[in-house]
Amino acid sequence: MEYVRPSIAAMKGYVPGIQPDPAQKYIKLNSNENPYPPSPRVREVLQRLHYDDLRIYPDPMSLELREKLARLHGFSAEQIICGNGSDDILNMIVRTFAQPGEAIGFYEPTFPLYKVLGVIQGVRNLAIPVTEPYDRPPDPPSEVKVFFLANPNSPVGFLYPLSLVRDLARKVRGVFVVDEAYVEFAPENALSFVRQVENVIVVRTVSKSYSLAGVRLGYAIGRETLVQEMFKVKDPFNVNRLTQAVVSTALEDQDYFRKNISRVVGTRDWFSREARALGYRIISSQGNFVFPQPPQKGRGIKFFQTLFDRKILTRHYDVEGLRDGVRMSIGTREEMEITLQVMSDILKILK
Ligand SMILES: *Cc1c(COP(=O)(O)O)cnc(C)c1O
Repeated sequence: MEYVRPSIAAMKGYVPGIQPDPAQKYIKLNSNENPYPPSPRVREVLQRLHYDDLRIYPDPMSLELREKLARLHGFSAEQIICGNGSDDILNMIVRTFAQPGEAIGFYEPTFPLYKVLGVIQGVRNLAIPVTEPYDRPPDPPSEVKVFFLANPNSPVGFLYPLSLVRDLARKVRGVFVVDEAYVEFAPENALSFVRQVENVIVVRTVSKSYSLAGVRLGYAIGRETLVQEMFKVKDPFNVNRLTQAVVSTALEDQDYFRKNISRVVGTRDWFSREARALGYRIISSQGNFVFPQPPQKGRGIKFFQTLFDRKILTRHYDVEGLRDGVRMSIGTREEMEITLQVMSDILKILK
C-alpha cells in the first residue's frame, strides 16, 4: 500500500448501480437509464459505419458534434466541449478550475461523483448539508473555485427554481456548474444564464434523455474563455468515433426525442400520483426518477430489499436524510404498473 497516494488509499471510490446480466430479467430502475431505445436512426448509422475507419483516431475536437449542439442550443461551437460522458466533463472542470489545496463545493445529498473527483484532484470538498424544504438552501461558500449544483437534483428529483440558481451563481467567486443531467425532463433550464452570468457552466448528457448511456457523451456549455481552457485539460481523443457518429445522428431526430421525453414524464407524473394514493411520500420530481418513502419511518432498507427480492432494482442510500426511501428510475408504463403492485404488497409487509 505504500505505493499508493494516501488520499486514494483512504477513499471509497464511486459506486455505480449494479448492471445485472440481461438474462436475469430484472426491472432495472437503479441507474436512471431511459427505458426506451434510442432513435431508430441510430440503428441506421451503426449499419453505415465502415469498420475500416476504426483504424483512424476520432476527431479530437468532436467538431461536427459540437456544431450540431451549438445550433440546437443557440451557442457557438467554441462555447461547447464534449466529453466521454458528463462524468468526463465534471472531471475536466475540477482539473481546469481547482488547484490542489483549493476548495470545491456542493449541496449534500447529491450526485456522489463530485466528492470523489475532489479527492482525486487533492482539493478540499465543502459539502453543504441541505434538508427539506430544498428551496431555501444556505449560501454556497464564496471561496470555492467550483460549485456543483445538480438541477434537477439527484436522488430526490427536486428542481431548484431558476431565480434561485441565478442568485446562488452570483454568490460564488469560482465557476458555478449547473449539472443538468436530467433537465430535459423538467420544465425549465439554466442555459440562458451562460449569457447573463459570467461564471456559469451548464453540463448536459445524452445518457438519460436520448437513451444513450451506453455510448458515453456529455458536454459543457459556457463562456468561450472558460471552455477553451478546458480543451487543454481533456484527454486528446476523449470521444470515440462511434459515439460521435451515433450522437450526431440522434440529435437530428428531435421528434423522437420529444416523444420519448413526454412518455417518461407522463409515466412519472401518473406513477407519483398512484404511489401517493397508496400512502407513499414522494417529493415532486422533475427528473426521470422518483424517491418514494413508505409511510413507516426507518424502513427504507427493507423497502429496497423487498423490491429486490421481487426482481425490481432500485437504489438505497445509507446517508442522512435518505435512509427512509429508495431512488427509483421511471421505467416503461408496464414496468411501473408492476412496481406499483409490488409497492402495494410491501405496505402490508412493512406494517
Ligand atoms: C447520470 C448523471 C451524470 C453522468 O452522466 P454521464 O453523461 O452518463 O456520465 C452526471 N450528473 C448527474 C447528476 C447524473 O445523474
